[in-house]
Parts: sequence; structure tokens; C-alpha cells
Amino acid sequence: MWSAALDLRLPSDVASLLRAHTGISSDQLSAMTLSPTLPKQLLLPLRNSGRRDGSTWLQFCSRCLADDAQPYFRRRWRLASRVSCTRHGCRLRDRCPSCHGHIAVFDQAELVPQHYCVSCGYDLRRASIPYLSPATRTFDRCIDNICSLEAMTHSPSGPVLIRRLLGMPSVGGCYSTMILTSLSTAARTYCAERLNLPSEWPVDGAEDDDEERKARLLRHPIPSPSDRRAWIELLTNALGRRRGRPSASAGNEPGISLPDLLGAYASMSPGPGRRLAQKLIGR
Ligand SMILES: [Zn+2]
Ligand SMILES: [Zn+2]
Repeated sequence: MWSAALDLRLPSDVASLLRAHTGISSDQLSAMTLSPTLPKQLLLPLRNSGRRDGSTWLQFCSRCLADDAQPYFRRRWRLASRVSCTRHGCRLRDRCPSCHGHIAVFDQAELVPQHYCVSCGYDLRRASIPYLSPATRTFDRCIDNICSLEAMTHSPSGPVLIRRLLGMPSVGGCYSTMILTSLSTAARTYCAERLNLPSEWPVDGAEDDDEERKARLLRHPIPSPSDRRAWIELLTNALGRRRGRPSASAGNEPGISLPDLLGAYASMSPGPGRRLAQKLIGR
């Protein structure tokens, strides 16, 4: 199981072996490991509780694996804050759909490509795509884009944001004693769905709250997309808001709500959810 830690710390003797046998430079090899600035608290743990709704070490997107000439597992799939694929927008999986075992590529008895399930040999590229709501996809992308790991490390709100992300299950009210990293992809998706309050997203014919919503947004000016620090602060406050926690920003302003923040975010970035968001903020 030690091989699972190579992404975090590549021992020099292993690096030398890899360099000698593959011709890949030391710089390229170290660029393939997880960044040292990565918030380790958000990594999915290697240990497995055995619970059906418990986390597993590795997630995957079957479409990404199917598109690869040499299928490989992305570094982003190690983060508990991720439930969707950046490229395909679909929900990730963390179990083999055939035997429901966790993905344990380090546990292979023979040298075979890692996209075959260790327990039953199922080709993970064939796995179907689980449903993900547009609002949750936007939320997932928002977290991923806003919290570029570099920005999170250097933002004063970074440590609070990490704590609030870890505490999302209790805010959603569904897994109140659990933290984000202890939950399966399906359970984390469920928590995000609860947080997103899909009922607050506008539906055709429901115009009643539009004026009030626009007025609320005017009270909270939306920062430019490049102002990561301001976005991190907004997201931190939005995630803490429902528990009545004090705002991370100065003053007593209650802060923007999560659905409003996501609406503003989606209107600036292309992809699913944008049409809804444009309607939400009247652009
Ligand atoms: Zn994908
Ligand atoms: Zn299997």
C-alpha cells in the first residue's frame, strides 16, 4: 500500500529508478506528483471504513478513462471537494459498478492496466455515467475554480474555507456527524444537492422572487473573475451563512447566499447552469 503515497512524497531512490528506466526528467517526474501546496485535509483517505456511504481512496470518470490512449487517474480525483469531471461535467464514481468494490489500483496481483477493477476485472471505461444536477455541477466547478490550490493557500480565508468544506455534510443536515472526506462520492453529491437548495433556482413561470433576488445581488457586488481572494471570501461566508456563523469579512453584513453566489458565478463561466443563472440575475 506504500505505492499510494508516491503521489505525496516521491523518495529519491524511486525517482532515480523511474528516471533511469523511462528517460523522464526529474522535473517532469516531480510535476506529476501532488503539489506540496495542496490542502492535505481535503484528500480522500486511503483507509476504507467498509461502509456503503463511506469514502474510498480514488474516484474516476469513465469517459476520461475511455478517451485516454493510456488510461490514468487524475490528481483532482483525489480531492473530497470534487464530485464531477472538469472535462465531461459528469459525476465521478468511486466504486466498481460490477462488484461495488473500491478502486485499489495499488493492490493488483499482476501487472495489468489500472482501469481494470482489482477485485473482478471489470473494465472501468465501460461504467455508466451517474446523474448530476446542473446546480451541483456548477457548485463543484465553482469550488474547483475559485479554490485554485495556490489561491486557497495564500488567502486569509483559506483555512476557514477548508474547515467549512469539510463541514458541508453537517450544514446539509444529512450526515451531521461526518466530515466530507469520510463520505462516498454519492453521499458528498447528496450533501451538495442539499446545500444548493435546488428549489431556490428559478423555474419557468416562477418570476415572483426575481426582483427581490436582483436587489439582494445589488447589495453584494460581484467581484471580477480574476479576484480569487474576494471569491474565496464570498464562498467561505456563503458556506457558513446557514449556520449563523460570523462573516469572514469585516462588518456585520450577512453575506451573499450560496444559490445567489452560484448564480453570479455561473453567469460568468460557460457551461451548464449558465442559462438558469442568466435568468436568475436578469442578464
Ligand atoms: Zn471526464
Ligand atoms: Zn469490480
